[in-house]
Amino acid sequence: FPLEFQGAMPILRKLQSKNYEAYYVGGSVRDILLNKPIHDVDIATSAFPAEVKELFHRTIDVGIDHGTVMVITKEATYEVTTFRTESTYQDYRRPDHVEFVRSLKEDLKRRDFTINALAVGIDGTVIDLFDGLADLRNKVLRAVGDPYERFHEDALRMMRALRFVSQLGFTLEPDTFEAIQEYHSLLAKISVERINVEFVKLMMGSSREAGLHSLVESECYIYCPGLREYGEALLNFAELRGPAIPTERQAWTLLMMMLDLNSADIRHFMKEWKCSNQLIREVTQMVPALQLRLKQGWDSWTLYQLGRELALSVEYLLYYFEQEPNLEKVRLLYQFLPIYSLKDLAVKGNEVMEHFDYPRGPWISTTLNALERAVVAGELANHKEELFRFAEDFLKKEQP
Ligand code: ATP
Ligand code: MG
Repeated sequence: FPLEFQGAMPILRKLQSKNYEAYYVGGSVRDILLNKPIHDVDIATSAFPAEVKELFHRTIDVGIDHGTVMVITKEATYEVTTFRTESTYQDYRRPDHVEFVRSLKEDLKRRDFTINALAVGIDGTVIDLFDGLADLRNKVLRAVGDPYERFHEDALRMMRALRFVSQLGFTLEPDTFEAIQEYHSLLAKISVERINVEFVKLMMGSSREAGLHSLVESECYIYCPGLREYGEALLNFAELRGPAIPTERQAWTLLMMMLDLNSADIRHFMKEWKCSNQLIREVTQMVPALQLRLKQGWDSWTLYQLGRELALSVEYLLYYFEQEPNLEKVRLLYQFLPIYSLKDLAVKGNEVMEHFDYPRGPWISTTLNALERAVVAGELANHKEELFRFAEDFLKKEQP
């Protein structure tokens, strides 16, 4: 048993000692069988949420309506979810209501793909009601039951399918793929936030090429925000050679490069995708920096503005354009910048104001900006007297 599962063992034991069933389920089972690192251990049980809460001292209701109780142990926290079915889907996205049941089979039946519908008991036996093990071996992604029904119930599953293609390098079983092609337009019913999560995982998968190809071939991309016109560009994105994209901001940066959007369009596009303001800010800085870097070496002003981490992120992206990144060089160049932020400037805004004794106005920030640029460029030493002298000349030129 892998370490992560061992930690949860006492929870499963306790449930069983009270005559409830309990299993490891979901993505962690799949990933362990694939020898991949796992992030969260999901436990499914026949005990109802109130019964789970009675059994453990420390619990948090994280999704009590869906039957999920978080059990806190000294070492970690685990999500324990009651077996459930999701009946009568009416709007292609969320079940009308979930019904708690005592049968593992019912619970596994409502899961999306056969490889996600495996359960493991504490004795290590794998419960495989839908031939998920064979599909794992053959690297096939197959809907549990009738794919048309399953995607009709919850259209997000189609995006999940495409991101698993990219993350796992599996192929879509033909009926499953056909159903996606048929029902792609149901994605219009799904919230952008949920599509975003799957799309980012798709971009970052190690089989991005296959993932993006199926996104385009299934025509699901048409129902993703702002992508309708960009089938070609997505295929070009698929062709970029390079390892799995390490971070979300790098993924969006590459996408924006492939779509060839300017800063205003990037902002608009990412807003439509409901990306956070911080992410949008980072990507609108990274794209022009990468465009510049593809043509020439780093200049101090660009490095200074990006900051160390984003600059390294940009440098790394050279891989995807068949250039060799030199991260060590970027670290050095950055380290030797004369200052790292306006705070490091040897004069402050109020000192400039007092020194010149002009009325408060935009001239202060214009002057500071000129000082900042000159110091970063190495044209001016970061010493008080020299900064004031430079400022005097600057203001004479600006306001004769
Ligand atoms: P990840 O490794 O990204 O967490 P995951 O398969 O664990 O992948 P989760 O969203 O954590 O994905 O879901 C856990 C499990 O719940 C899945 O393995 C699957 O069995 C089930 N599941 C999740 N979303 C759906 C869905 N939309 N429809 C049916 N079953 C789902
Ligand atoms: Mg998971």
